[in-house]
Amino acid sequence: MRKGCVHVVQPNNFSLLCGHIEPASAACHLCVPMVAHGDSLGVLSIDDPGLCDSITQPRLRRRKQELATTVAEQISLAFANLTLRETLKYQSVRDPLTGLFNRRHMEESLERELLRAARNGKPVTVLMIDIDRFKLFNDSFGHEAGDILLRELGSVLSSITRGGDIACRYGGEEFLLILVEASLETGCERAAKLREQVANLQIGYRGETLRRITVSIGVAAFPQHGTSAAPLLRLADQALYRAKAGGKDRVVVADATSTDTPSLSVSRSG
Ligand code: GH3
Ligand code: MG
Ligand code: MG
Repeated sequence: MRKGCVHVVQPNNFSLLCGHIEPASAACHLCVPMVAHGDSLGVLSIDDPGLCDSITQPRLRRRKQELATTVAEQISLAFANLTLRETLKYQSVRDPLTGLFNRRHMEESLERELLRAARNGKPVTVLMIDIDRFKLFNDSFGHEAGDILLRELGSVLSSITRGGDIACRYGGEEFLLILVEASLETGCERAAKLREQVANLQIGYRGETLRRITVSIGVAAFPQHGTSAAPLLRLADQALYRAKAGGKDRVVVADATSTDTPSLSVSRSG
């Protein structure tokens, strides 16, 4: 691996025995480093008794070595391509700072979840979350501390999502949670818990504890507030706006769009 070249191990010549070869083995081994784009991916190890015979036939051994090298190169490139594809896929759907899904992925997922919910007759609730007075926080502690806080909040959101839920960084200091199969009531309960959890969050930075922050949350649910993504997001955003106007650090539920659906308002506890 260190020299980046083929290593041949023959019986009676165990001067440099790779860790993965049984010391008692009497067979011949070919170890070919697998490298692609400068990254070491592994070793192709061939246990070949025929190689022992070929000690007396150097040409045959050379040909086998060349074949093993070509195979290792091909496998390495295939591995590297698969890894690259995974990385690109991850980067195309994730926010780099928080690791949460990005807005584009969320919008596609929300449409899909709403169609599924309509088919199965299940509810979906969305929470639009915005950090209160975050500009002031950045101004007081610096942008780096602000980034740490965003990342921490991302972890909190990931930790409270259940399988199938989608946590996304909507942009800047705004986040969106899609709670699948959660009714408006359940969504409100989870929003209230989240608000409380964030208010109690303590984050260390350069040996100090940062000032606590609060969030405002707008809640809208399918089917009460809309049957497609755009109206649902718009109503959640309007509810968030009212939470801000009402004094921040609170959960506000969207106005129901139909007259026969009751609207619910949850204000901050304590
Ligand atoms: P409000 O309570 O009304 O929401 O006030 P606010 O200060 O949170 O809102 P405002 O829209 O005035 O400011 C948002 C701030 O979020 C400003 C911007 O510097 C900060 N911000 C947005 N994205 C990032 C980021 O990636 N990192 C950091 N550190 N700050 C960010
Ligand atoms: Mg904002
Ligand atoms: Mg804000």
